[in-house]
Amino acid sequence: MRNVRPLALSGLIILASWIGGHSAWASESDGRLDIYFIDVEGGAANLIVTPTNESILIDSGYPDNNGRDRDRILDVVRNVAGLERIDHAVVSHWHLDHYGNHAALAAEIPIGQFWDRGIPDALQEDKDFETRIADYRSASQNESRTLRAGNTFELDSPETRLTVKVVTASREVIDNTGIPNPHAGESEPMPEDTSDNAASVSLLFTFGKFKYLTCGDLTWNVEAALVTPNNPIGMVDLFMVTHHGLPTSNNPALVHAIDPTVAVMCNGPTKGGHEQTIATLKGVKSLQNWYQLHRNVNLPDEAQAPKAFIANSDPTVNCEGIWVKASVAADGESYTVQIGPNGKPQTYQTREKVR
Ligand SMILES: [Zn+2]
Repeated sequence: MRNVRPLALSGLIILASWIGGHSAWASESDGRLDIYFIDVEGGAANLIVTPTNESILIDSGYPDNNGRDRDRILDVVRNVAGLERIDHAVVSHWHLDHYGNHAALAAEIPIGQFWDRGIPDALQEDKDFETRIADYRSASQNESRTLRAGNTFELDSPETRLTVKVVTASREVIDNTGIPNPHAGESEPMPEDTSDNAASVSLLFTFGKFKYLTCGDLTWNVEAALVTPNNPIGMVDLFMVTHHGLPTSNNPALVHAIDPTVAVMCNGPTKGGHEQTIATLKGVKSLQNWYQLHRNVNLPDEAQAPKAFIANSDPTVNCEGIWVKASVAADGESYTVQIGPNGKPQTYQTREKVR
């Protein structure tokens, strides 16, 4: 992941440290960009594997539960993606359902570089932050790198250009360029969110024509700041529904403006997957399907995604932790989405983006 600007030098140092470090399967790469949504029961863990088998893990689920989320992540990394290391481990923000296993993973598998929004001195909503962050600091050997809005990285990709841009971090958003957002008026401001959700790192991946947006738990007012009055992101193909599908996020001014074809919601049986968010998704002009990691046990079946688009229907105690995978063709022109190893991949065409 070479930083195009403004940290080109440090980017080179990182690149050098990876040489020889990729998976033994790197030479068998199929040129595709794979995006796994790992079920961590209402937390988040999103693994991206590039055409050269460089791996980026964004968030790591909840700690404890006998290593449940750590083990699910390791299973996908090793046994599904066939990797022997994680090249980049990103923390979207400092809540336990997002950085719960960074330290535990580092004890099990080599991690090349840690990335986050910067480590605050304290966190008002977590009285144990000091202890928890000590584990992260130790696992990252105090060398995690700070992501800032506007940072852009180029990833190795021989056939089709692959970039990742930080579009929000620490409540900062990228410059409000682009064409006016016709959905800007759909956002009424909410009371200020002083939690770390509002500080989430949001990343825009661009692979040829294909675009994927993931925003952690970014909340309403910062979502609005990002895309009003203008939309600097444009349209995307794939969208990770923000904040597990909770209605304090997923401002229609953002969700309708980016107009995804496919959305994936990382909800749990009783967390997220909210009907207001589902109503917002149903208002997306180009949306063909949305996938849920879980059936929301508190909503009737007809109020959520059809059964075939729900990865896990059982309560957590019986849950197998089935993942959802999107896989983008080497030329970026189409992609498939499938549920679990035995799911039938459904193909979608990458759209021409009308900005
Ligand atoms: Zn969360």
